[in-house]
This record gives sequence, C-alpha cells and structure tokens, in this order.
Amino acid sequence: MRYIEPHGHMVSRTTDDYQDMVTAGCAAVCEPAFWAGYDRSGVQGFHDYFCQLTDYEPKRAAKFGLPHYTWLCINPKESEDVKLAEEVIGIIPEFIDKPNVLGIGEIGLNKNSRNEMKVLEMHVDLAARTNSLILVHTPHLEDKLKGTRLILDVLKSDKRIRPERCIIDHVEEHTVQRVLDAGFWAGMTLYPESKCSPARAIDIIENYGAERLWMNSACDWGVSVPLAVPRTALEMRRRGHSAEFIDQMIFQNPGRFMSQCPKFKLPA
Ligand SMILES: [Zn+2]
Repeated sequence: MRYIEPHGHMVSRTTDDYQDMVTAGCAAVCEPAFWAGYDRSGVQGFHDYFCQLTDYEPKRAAKFGLPHYTWLCINPKESEDVKLAEEVIGIIPEFIDKPNVLGIGEIGLNKNSRNEMKVLEMHVDLAARTNSLILVHTPHLEDKLKGTRLILDVLKSDKRIRPERCIIDHVEEHTVQRVLDAGFWAGMTLYPESKCSPARAIDIIENYGAERLWMNSACDWGVSVPLAVPRTALEMRRRGHSAEFIDQMIFQNPGRFMSQCPKFKLPA
C-alpha cells in the first residue's frame, strides 16, 4: 500500500508516529498550520512556528525518508484578534517561497464570527495575490453547515479564485454535495471522537464518487490516529473495493490536487 497523508499536524506527533506512517506506506505528509492548543501571545510566536514548519519539521521527516510539505496561515481559532491576524498575514510572504510550502491553510471559520470572516477574506486575498492553493477548515458540529455556506460564498465571490485549486476539509454527509457541486475538492477527516469515522467516509465515497475527494487523519495533539488513512484503506478492501480504486483515493487523488503547486513532487 502507498498513500499520502494530506493533513497531519506532525509538530505535535512523536518519531514513533513517523516510523509507523512510513512503515504503513506513507509517501508524503502535508502539514497545515493550526491552533497549537493555546493562543500565541504575538506575531513572533507565529514567526517561530512558520520556521518550524518550513525548516525543522521537514528535516525531522526526512530522517524517516518522508517528504514533508506545509501550508501557512493564522488558524480560525486565533482569528478573533484581527490586528494580530493582519500582522501574521504580513509575515507569510517571507515564507511562501520556501521549497515545502504548498499554499495558504488551514484557513476558514471556527465560530462563524464577523472577525473570523474578515480574516478569512484577508487570507483568500493573500492566496489570490500569491497564486497559492487554499486548504480550508470547516467548523464542527452544529456550526458546520452554516460555516461551509459562508466559506463557499467568500471563495466564490472572489473571481481570482479557481475552485479546483481549493480543498474544503472536514466535510460530512450534509456538506459534501454542496462543496463538490461548486467545483471544489472535499476532504474527509477520519477521527475517533468527532468528524468522520472510516465507515462513514467510505459510505460518502460510495455515494458521491471519488473524483475530487481525499481522506486524512488530521492527527494532532488531541486524541487522533496518525494511521487512520491506511486503516480506512483496509476497511475499503474488506468492503470489496479494488486495489486500483483504493490507490486512487489515498494516493493519486491527494497527489493530483497537490501537484497543482509545482513545488509538490509526486513520490515515485
Ligand atoms: Zn487540522
């Protein structure tokens, strides 16, 4: 089995996780910028984090033979402070040309607030100006449908943004159709406590097709499973899906999306 982990917060994982992922067939990992579990006190905290994502973490991954890519932003949870967000967005251009940076993410909404919307628009503008791919986090539970609608409206109203260059992550049964119909990619997050279970993700694939869908573990510092993607592949096999179809879902699809950034090299 070979697969790409399109959404893993590796700075919060151990070297054992890297070893397990590579052993299971992981051929590349992509790490969006996220909330660290606490609010950072200023722009310098983000500067250090972006250095970690673009310098230290790719070196750590390389020790296990794993190519590491990243996405940069101020995450929605810390976007309530618009002044701080402006400062953070102001330093992203210093990092955007680093060899492992694929684009802007994971941006989006958390509580669907007015300030989060403002910061989302600023990120979308930055992505348009720098011709970057976009990775979007959608809110969880009851806010998801409303948040997804608001996010799609922001993306669609900026005429510089091409939907096939944006992935809307953490979709569920009630949001996936809307995302795909608008021409965007959709990501399903396999999580033991919230988001999508493997069985639900496979149901979604069977109902909506696999053209612009991917699966990720979104493994982070919380209860999460770095091997969620290969384990779901085993479940797909149990359900009778072909090796070629599984390869499309867990390797070719994320590869096809990410290859829209010329810096991403599809692993041989
Ligand atoms: Zn994430």
